[in-house]
Amino acid sequence: MARIDLDHIRHAYKANPVSDDDYALKEVHHSWRDGGAYALLGPSGCGKTTLLNLISGLLHPTKGRILFDGKDVTNLPTEARNIAQVFQFPVVYDTMSVRDNLAFPLRNRGMAEAEVQKRVNEVIELIDLGAVANRRAEGLTADLKQKVSLGRGLVRADVNAILFDEPLTVIDPHMKWQLRSQLKLLHKQFGHTMVYVTHDQTEALTFADTVVVMFEGEIVQIGTPEELFERPSHTFVGYFIGSPGMNVLPVERDGATLMLGHHAIALAGAPAGVKPGAKLELGVRPEYVRLDQSGMPVTINRIEDIGRQKVVRAELEGKPIAIVLSEDEEIPAEPRISFDPKGVNLYADSWRVGTEG
Ligand code: ADP
Ligand code: MG
Repeated sequence: MARIDLDHIRHAYKANPVSDDDYALKEVHHSWRDGGAYALLGPSGCGKTTLLNLISGLLHPTKGRILFDGKDVTNLPTEARNIAQVFQFPVVYDTMSVRDNLAFPLRNRGMAEAEVQKRVNEVIELIDLGAVANRRAEGLTADLKQKVSLGRGLVRADVNAILFDEPLTVIDPHMKWQLRSQLKLLHKQFGHTMVYVTHDQTEALTFADTVVVMFEGEIVQIGTPEELFERPSHTFVGYFIGSPGMNVLPVERDGATLMLGHHAIALAGAPAGVKPGAKLELGVRPEYVRLDQSGMPVTINRIEDIGRQKVVRAELEGKPIAIVLSEDEEIPAEPRISFDPKGVNLYADSWRVGTEG
């Protein structure tokens, strides 16, 4: 197991990159703590696979260095990095049995056969492959094959890190849940450094203690699920995490006051260091919008029932806004809203502005 440092990494697939747009991965400068369970979360195409492949050595960065426990591995090939990687689609040896597929990474490293069998049996048990252990991989369904791939990633105890690249894509929803819980348990038990890539926020938030959110080739926030919810660093995080996502509304500054249309908005503290001319937006999660008889008048377009809560889709000053209410909350005849100041975040050019003091 190791701590992994990405030291000012950039990656471009095209030759001679010049502008930021030429880079699939813009500046990434970040450490993965030894034994941490991370989720790497972001939409398709944001650079998640690129980042994993740089760590495992399948790709060589255009700029920057990669260090494992302080040792520069940037120029080491994949085999020398001692990383287990599980890909989105199964990679198995069709002609081998399930058992031999699992044993392969161990035999390859010269482990004694008795020890190999012991580890393989543990993994078979762990991910429930007992029924097919002696079958050839060839005839297995896609999700069983993926379980074998997953098993191969988990079989070695001595790896620096295990990287999972959307490993449950081909697995059916029920088994998905089970496998994710088992991975989490495994992390608790063995304490491997794990990076789990997904575009699904539920998957990310249930697997990891730290979530790394990527957007357009950049890491936009690293935090606990709670931090991502309460204090999104970037409007994208606010929008991507939460269901429905954060409301983002254009505001203007009038001296010390923020104006949303002709309504003044209270902030928990004075904003610090906003550049003149920056595009200002206010972010407020639907959970922090209060509906009552005073405040800013809204027009309600639709009410969606989501179990113990309801989502009210309304319009404020001509802009859509979502409000989350508990199922028994009444909707007034002349609805007005206000924001809980502790749930209000201010953004300048999409990045969150801190407050003074
Ligand atoms: P993700 O895994 O988050 O979906 P990727 O890392 O696969 O994203 O891709 C990031 C960006 O790099 C995308 O714009 C993608 O089109 C581009 N890209 C990925 N692989 C290659 C490649 N082999 N050659 C050229 N461009 C690529
Ligand atoms: Mg990918």
